[in-house]
Amino acid sequence: MHIVPPSFEVLDHLDHESLAVRIEFCGRICYKSEDKIDRDSALPFVTKMAEHGHNSVLEMGVVTLQVLCSDQQKVIDLFLTQPKYLHIDRQGDDLLVTGSVRAFREMLMFHPDCAMVRAMCSYLNRRHPYFFSTILPENGLKDDPTISVTKMELADVDRLPPEQRAKHRHIGVKFIVNRAITHEIVRHRPCSFLQESQRYCRYSDDKFGNEVTFIKPMFFEEDSPEYAIWHRAMLDTEKMYLQLLETSSPQAARTVLPNSCKTELIVYANLAEWRHIFNLRTTKAAEPSMREVMIPLQEEFKTRFPDIFH
Ligand SMILES: Cc1cc2nc3c(=O)[nH]c(=O)nc-3n(C[C@H](O)[C@H](O)[C@H](O)COP(=O)(O)OP(=O)(O)OC[C@H]3O[C@@H](n4cnc5c(N)ncnc54)[C@H](O)[C@@H]3O)c2cc1C
Repeated sequence: MHIVPPSFEVLDHLDHESLAVRIEFCGRICYKSEDKIDRDSALPFVTKMAEHGHNSVLEMGVVTLQVLCSDQQKVIDLFLTQPKYLHIDRQGDDLLVTGSVRAFREMLMFHPDCAMVRAMCSYLNRRHPYFFSTILPENGLKDDPTISVTKMELADVDRLPPEQRAKHRHIGVKFIVNRAITHEIVRHRPCSFLQESQRYCRYSDDKFGNEVTFIKPMFFEEDSPEYAIWHRAMLDTEKMYLQLLETSSPQAARTVLPNSCKTELIVYANLAEWRHIFNLRTTKAAEPSMREVMIPLQEEFKTRFPDIFH
């Protein structure tokens, strides 16, 4: 049995990677197969995800487009699709449209006749054909002379006024916490999530040290009688889990694993949603082990984006 403290990491380094690299990095957390990442692994991985429709993985990359359309009816038609998962703003004559790879794919699948959708997906398809190859309309995607689409670079997103930036700028955070905490975090529906799978991960394998990892509970002092009870319960649980694995699959054996089990969760959301999460999850009403990670994380956001988090 292994015991670790809770932790988090802001995934800034992914912001400067391609969509494929960041989607692969996040996607592999589910299977804990990060050891398979190499220079050439991203494209085959994301192509497989797109082909197999593992859509939540495709939420882990967003892009902001600047769209100029001289035909107002086509703009109205875009809004009539009720694009729930796109963030749309005006910037002068342009529209700013931010969405994940999944959001743009599903716009094309469900609204292939919308000129704005076709124009945006045509632009993205030229840059990232592997995301769209299996869902292209029969007659393909042609450019529309009344619509121009360009990508807004991250540096330009970061120069937007605070309230626009809060909507369009997305940040990923990897949490290593217990399962009770991730169960609460995933209630924040506007975020995208990927989590280590107890169905796939077999903790008796060498790569997990042949043991179960638990998160140290902040409720009990290490030399207290309560901590001793908790420690004994985890040892017993691990023993039963490993015993079940001798005859059963990980998804069956995991039924004995407790809330204290360590898990990894990537949360990807815009800054406005992070602000909302911190408002709910750092106050005295929030669960103490939630506050244990959310308060220091909020401090990191204040340092990075002082005009949005104060
Ligand atoms: C201190 C605390 C105690 C809690 N206790 C409990 C508890 O005892 N039991 C429990 O079940 N939960 C509990 N929760 C979870 C809570 O009910 C929320 O699910 C969670 O905090 C997510 O917050 P939210 O509702 O703002 O976010 P979300 O549900 O993610 O909503 C965010 C925004 O998305 C929009 N939205 C998303 N889906 C819909 C929809 N279907 N219809 C309309 N609008 C939508 C809304 O605009 C909303 O403002 C608790 C949370 C906290 C912080």
